[in-house]
Amino acid sequence: MHRKRSARIVATLGPSSSDLTTVRALFDAGADVFRLNFSHGTHAQHQERLEIVRRVERDTGRPIAVLLDLQGPKLRIGTFTDGPVTLQAGAAFRLDLDPTPGDATRAPLPHPEIFAALETGTELLVDDGKVRLKVGRFGPDFADTQVVTGGTVSDRKGVNVPSVLLPIPAMTPKDRADLEFGLTLGVDWVALSFVQRPEDVREVKGIVQGRAAVLAKLEKPAAIESLDAIIDAADAIMVARGDLGVELPAEQVPRIQKQIVRACRAAGKPVVVATQMLESMITSPVPTRAEASDVANAVYDGADAVMLSAESASGQYPREAVAMMDRIIAEVESDPDYRSAIDASHTAPQAAVADAICLALQQTANLLPVAAIVTYTRSGYTSLRAARERPVVPVLSMTPELATARRLALVWGVHPVHANESVSDVPDMVNKACAIARREAFAQTGDFVVIASGMPFGVAGTTNFLHIAKV
Ligand code: PGA
Ligand code: MN
Repeated sequence: MHRKRSARIVATLGPSSSDLTTVRALFDAGADVFRLNFSHGTHAQHQERLEIVRRVERDTGRPIAVLLDLQGPKLRIGTFTDGPVTLQAGAAFRLDLDPTPGDATRAPLPHPEIFAALETGTELLVDDGKVRLKVGRFGPDFADTQVVTGGTVSDRKGVNVPSVLLPIPAMTPKDRADLEFGLTLGVDWVALSFVQRPEDVREVKGIVQGRAAVLAKLEKPAAIESLDAIIDAADAIMVARGDLGVELPAEQVPRIQKQIVRACRAAGKPVVVATQMLESMITSPVPTRAEASDVANAVYDGADAVMLSAESASGQYPREAVAMMDRIIAEVESDPDYRSAIDASHTAPQAAVADAICLALQQTANLLPVAAIVTYTRSGYTSLRAARERPVVPVLSMTPELATARRLALVWGVHPVHANESVSDVPDMVNKACAIARREAFAQTGDFVVIASGMPFGVAGTTNFLHIAKV
């Protein structure tokens, strides 16, 4: 089995998608990566979902990536004595460290680090920006604000502070426990929320120690200011448009999405476009035209993957949402203008041996009737550099590492194959590459395949070898 499209689909698992039949149906409909959202659910539930994914992997023989999404330092207001309160525009409202439940004049905000970072005029956004508060007088344990946009506030609603770089660690104690748990389970990707600086990513990588790949979720304005450094530090990036669209005006999200996708493609790091892609499919079997266009545009831009959140986790039509994404991607990729869009947004390879090889791969595939590119890779590096070229034929990635095969399920155009035994020499590798290209139905006898690898075998970052073979 192989997908007939290059862009990948990430589907979040949740109450609507927690049994074997449904997860298998999502895979069959097109999901390549499953996301476990640790903002919700218990460890036991996540473990059960991961085991179901591994079962589907065994049943289908296809490597599948599991992405653990850490909640991160999500800030929340405290509680209220008599339920939700309504704040009127222009009214005064105090936030402080006093844990006593609040009312229409004040509420607890149990985050001293916010008060420490405030300035007069700082805006605090409550409940996804539905209510806006402007800071006037403040101290280390309180802030007197004026309500700019009124509305209802209830217990434990989220608070965003877009304009300041908050002196908060990238991971809360809950995140650390969740991460340890996930690594023990053997997740393939770890997503870090509310990344502000490249150090946030490096800190997580220091803990993960290569046991999973690390994806940085970009949802803070500060992250956009350090975009290149964060992309450099991370193994992949997510355009987390939910919180990004709260922290920044909605009209800036499309431009920033394109900026991030372009920067990731230039760096050769996988990029996922996420949140509200088919939002209305939470309760409807069909998306809005605008949502279909949104998915299509991310694909035209050359994003590696598009993501479903509540649509597949808690919606009424999880399978239909995946199938819809699959059809939108297939439709875009069959558009003759798609190739010119991808090529127009492509940036020149770096002046490095690996990129010279991958450029030659792409040009060979343009020149000869090549059925597939085959990479032989241990770390996945050769495959990432090949995918960076957005080649016209699939990249079949043979790897002796199951972990690498799974991680590569997120990558544009890559069809990972876990080839258990390592190869002994070049003729052996060529034989195995041709056999697998035939077995996986990419090539028939007489077709060309172009093979890229690094020598010596098994050393990451040595991509230096190109071979054209006839199957
Ligand atoms: P979340 O992240 O769903 O974990 O908040 C995605 C986003 O903010 O877009
Ligand atoms: Mn978020």
